[in-house]
Amino acid sequence: MNGIHGSPIDEQTRCIHYHSENDIVAIKFKCCNTYYPCYKCHQEEADHDREVWQKEEFHTSAILCGLCGHIHTIRDYLSRSSCANCHTAFNEGCALHHHIYFDV
Ligand SMILES: [Zn+2]
Ligand SMILES: [Zn+2]
Ligand SMILES: [Zn+2]
Repeated sequence: MNGIHGSPIDEQTRCIHYHSENDIVAIKFKCCNTYYPCYKCHQEEADHDREVWQKEEFHTSAILCGLCGHIHTIRDYLSRSSCANCHTAFNEGCALHHHIYFDV
């Protein structure tokens, strides 16, 4: 997919690490302003450590739905379980990883 770094394996931002039916979001990383499907993709490709988004930055649009292209703010994304635009469910397991991306 255009603009997504890392190792996406399809047009809906699934990657070699996370590729279940519901792994459809890409996340823009604070450290490099670049979209990756997951933190492992960032780890393998970026030449720096990742930074987490701070609470006062949760208004930033940084979560891309790989199905419809809608971009959510971090606050919006954290408060919902499906895409605001196409209503496709997000992977519930992602909640376990929020601290990797966000200061939650
Ligand atoms: Zn980075
Ligand atoms: Zn990945
Ligand atoms: Zn969507």
